[in-house]
Amino acid sequence: MQENVSHITNEAWEKLIQQLRYVQENSVYYQRLFKEQGFDSHQANTSDFLNLPYTRKQDLAKFNDDFIAVKPREIIEYVTTSGTLGDPVTFALNENDLQRLALNEAQSFQLIGVGENDVVQITTTLDKRFIAGLAYFLGLRKIGAGIVRVGAGSPALQWDSIQRFKPSYLIVVPSFLIQLAKYAEANDIDINTSSIKGAICIGEALRDEKHELNTLGKKIKSLWDIELFSSYASTEMCTAFTECKKHKGLHVPENLIFTEILNENGEEVQPGEIGELVITTLGVETLPLVRYATGDLVKKLKITCDCESSSALISSVLGRKQQLIKYKGTSIYPQQIVQLMINLPELQEYQIQVTSNELDTDKLSIVIPEEASESLQHQLKEILKANLRVTPLLKLLPLDELKASIFPEGSRKPVRFLDLRKA
Ligand SMILES: [Zn+2]
Repeated sequence: MQENVSHITNEAWEKLIQQLRYVQENSVYYQRLFKEQGFDSHQANTSDFLNLPYTRKQDLAKFNDDFIAVKPREIIEYVTTSGTLGDPVTFALNENDLQRLALNEAQSFQLIGVGENDVVQITTTLDKRFIAGLAYFLGLRKIGAGIVRVGAGSPALQWDSIQRFKPSYLIVVPSFLIQLAKYAEANDIDINTSSIKGAICIGEALRDEKHELNTLGKKIKSLWDIELFSSYASTEMCTAFTECKKHKGLHVPENLIFTEILNENGEEVQPGEIGELVITTLGVETLPLVRYATGDLVKKLKITCDCESSSALISSVLGRKQQLIKYKGTSIYPQQIVQLMINLPELQEYQIQVTSNELDTDKLSIVIPEEASESLQHQLKEILKANLRVTPLLKLLPLDELKASIFPEGSRKPVRFLDLRKA
């Protein structure tokens, strides 16, 4: 029996030690790291584990092949991360990883209340080397639900499918719900009498620090009165965290992932505090990660849920650690500004830019089309001033040039935040 010097329970440690032994046996990267650290999974205790250095995205990019812990012929799925912050990293999954992914999503659907009698429409990308759409598909197969694979985009085909197959849930990027609502309005479709009861949302945060609907969440609710479920996932974690029907936070699937939420000094934060999410995958065979620092800032929630799951709860992602902007003495995350921009639907495009100035402090600007009217510019300044306490600089660019910067060739997502600070 391990002495419990940390927050790690005996039950969690049992699972962790299995994964640590597996990586010591099979992962070239962790064999090297453990050796350097004098760490032996056959003798280690919880404090030895908590002294292991973090793995970061840079390590994954630099030593990508050394992380692969199975023989190439075992690999079934090849995927990549989106590469928002640099080159995409290759990930791969074998049969057991795909089963694990299916279990993860099946558990999530059970928390939401999706069952075999439901039909679910997937409106997210199912190919393009993405993992999320496939994960949902596998989870739905596991619970025996009906599936409509429409994939990304095409509001017309989405609505045709809703009317044709009467799905009860959508799997969707939240801002696409706004597009679907607008399409319905323009085409005389009464959305509130459609078959859709709820949406399982991915990719954008819907809730704030207090786990109440944020600006985007409220905007969607005002257009379309369906139940919104947040989720949070990444290719690296190979795991999704999902909200249940009580909407109190995201449930941590503790059988599939070990989580730490750490402050600047690398200490576990107290409930109610915000820290960086650091994860160790459990049961992952192809690309297992140990103490992977996600860069995502989340709040450890105080409450436990009164649903059937007793697992811990975390907030939605509140910001990216590297993206923190220190502007005129105020800490701002680009995500806060993105949320505010939802209030200005007339603004065609925008990009948030941050540069370092001569004193190595941050300079924050918002670039908008020079075609934007004066009253729109004024409105924007007012919204920023009222919500951020400081006013970023407004820069005007011709719409074409701005678009070229937001949608560079080869990027899967629009670049709303351009970080030009010195590293
Ligand atoms: Zn719950």
